[in-house]
Amino acid sequence: MRQNIVAGNWKMNKTLREGVELAKELQNALQAEKPNCRVIIGTPFIHLSEVCKIVDPELIGVSAQNCAHHESGAYTGEVSAEMVKSTGAGYVILGHSERRAYYHEDNAMLKTKTDLALKNGLTPIFCIGEVLEEREANKHFEIVKSQIEESLFHLSADDFKKIVIAYEPVWAIGTGKTATPEQAQEMHAFIRKTLAGKYGQEVANEISILYGGSCKPSNARELFANPDVDGGLIGGASLKADDFRGIIAAF
Ligand code: PEP
Repeated sequence: MRQNIVAGNWKMNKTLREGVELAKELQNALQAEKPNCRVIIGTPFIHLSEVCKIVDPELIGVSAQNCAHHESGAYTGEVSAEMVKSTGAGYVILGHSERRAYYHEDNAMLKTKTDLALKNGLTPIFCIGEVLEEREANKHFEIVKSQIEESLFHLSADDFKKIVIAYEPVWAIGTGKTATPEQAQEMHAFIRKTLAGKYGQEVANEISILYGGSCKPSNARELFANPDVDGGLIGGASLKADDFRGIIAAF
């Protein structure tokens, strides 16, 4: 079901103690504030089970930032979707541009990860987005379409409805350079149209499409005001409870 969502991606930040502190601070604050959207925090793997014990799952969902593209076995250092699920987490961020760029995750690998996440009852927060050169060459629509087609369009409509999409123009991630509300709406509408072309308008209307890229309390409201922007995936500003709460308050 389409929901407004604000999801944090802590990336490789916070010791276990610091992460637990932040989760507690958010839990206490949001319990009083009663957010008008679904709130999710994406923590490092080692934080997941502790954070799941602290937060009320109705108030704050917990997400991993990745999972392995194998079910189990001799893959030293990897963490499977089943293991993520066993911590109590309900979500997994897949295809973040940093994973695509630094760990060579391609559309085919992300297709496998998506299948494993769904098989294990996790909701994928599936990231797509173009790099600056692709936008400058006017290839951004084509790139985003192929990321969706090659990793997700094998899914049945019922499974597709379990996916959350996060459009993150790579040139806006961690750069302080945000897409304008018009650029965000234009791409989100294109994504929804692409989904409607494959699964029909009714299914497309049920999918939450988040914007990510230098979203902060000062610009969240105008980004989220767009009809096809259903919230945000937040990096830097999710590391401080006050900033993250400021973005949540945009709904
Ligand atoms: C992200 O990494 O998903 C992200 C959106 O980062 P930032 O908000 O820091 O640009």
